[in-house]
Amino acid sequence: MKEEYQFPLEDYMSSERFKRIKRFAEDKPTPCLILETDIVKAKFEELRMHLPFAKIFYAVKANPHDEIVTLLHRLGSNFDVATRYELDQLLRLGVEPDRMSFGNTIKKERDIAYFYDKGVRLFATDSFEDVDKLARAAPKAKVFFRILTEGLGADWPLSKKFGCHPEMTRNLMLHARDLGLEPYGLSFHVGSQQRDIGQWSTALGSVGSLFSWAEDHGIKLKMVNMGGGFPANYTDPTNPIEHYAGDITSYLKNFFGEQLPEIIIEPGRSITGDCGVIVTEVVNIAKKSAHDLYHWVFFDIGKFGGLIETLDEAIKYPIYFERSGPSLDIILAGPTCDSMDILYEKHSYEMPAGTKIGERAFILTTGAYTQSYSSIYFNGFPPLSAYILK
Ligand SMILES: *Cc1c(COP(=O)(O)O)cnc(C)c1O
Repeated sequence: MKEEYQFPLEDYMSSERFKRIKRFAEDKPTPCLILETDIVKAKFEELRMHLPFAKIFYAVKANPHDEIVTLLHRLGSNFDVATRYELDQLLRLGVEPDRMSFGNTIKKERDIAYFYDKGVRLFATDSFEDVDKLARAAPKAKVFFRILTEGLGADWPLSKKFGCHPEMTRNLMLHARDLGLEPYGLSFHVGSQQRDIGQWSTALGSVGSLFSWAEDHGIKLKMVNMGGGFPANYTDPTNPIEHYAGDITSYLKNFFGEQLPEIIIEPGRSITGDCGVIVTEVVNIAKKSAHDLYHWVFFDIGKFGGLIETLDEAIKYPIYFERSGPSLDIILAGPTCDSMDILYEKHSYEMPAGTKIGERAFILTTGAYTQSYSSIYFNGFPPLSAYILK
């Protein structure tokens, strides 16, 4: 059985903003990603307004486009950096190393040394082995310890890959201090596109008790890094960002009182998700048998072209076709010769019945985790190209 969903897209479809995107994309080959930097700016400023006490470290991996990084740098953002390649890019764009953290807990010792050499002094960690590497390659650096979260309620959960159990975090803090590092704070990530705001309360509960435990053991932690997880606008509804900010602020005050420690957030999706529209072409529309109830619709972009977050139909992008009118139930798939390259099969998407092969479709909210995920030349398809809307 397919779930039903009607897109509330009428207003957007007739908006000036959308008409501009369509006009701008007219002479561009598909698939392509159109990025609107004024939306990035608005999303950044909205978050800063609602969480004025938090330092924002933009998670570069969500969308590392030079113009987006440069804009966020100008707006005063800091950056959560995951690899030496991202570090090199940011240095090339003039981002100061004291506005970066090495937020990946999975790192080679020589890459830690590279970050340290370039001036980065803030590092994430979640294991003894990694603390040992940090002590050798980044002496006296500030480290924050990532605790494990469940990822419940998130559309794109981060599983058990990152973080460690609070019990182990205690021993890690002592170990880091004994090796001359500065135990600086604690971090967590509640899972990406987190729709249950209560997950921040659960995580902050663990953080609060670890803060007290550390103080009892002579370690004065100074910082809480609340990670990402803030939402973009996909088809499944979420609360507005001010609800997230309001609830999270009251959780923080419950656990820490009025004297908050330094607070960091690392938004990726919520800053850049809404700024992108992918323009695609309908390559084929076909049935598998005469009585097939569904039409198979094939786009010129699929899982390998940048839509990997449709795995398990986790992220449901709003999709708009050029025509309107009565619609058909469809199964949506990508253009490659891999059978897993299906976008939506269980979840019901619709397409106006008059749609013809060769017409365009528009996949909304594709500014985050698309271009940076697109494959290089699988089946010869080039990586997804992006244009900044001018
Ligand atoms: C990917 C990532 C983020 C961004 O998460 P979103 O849910 O996209 O906001 C933040 N922090 C870390 C450590 C990450 O790996």
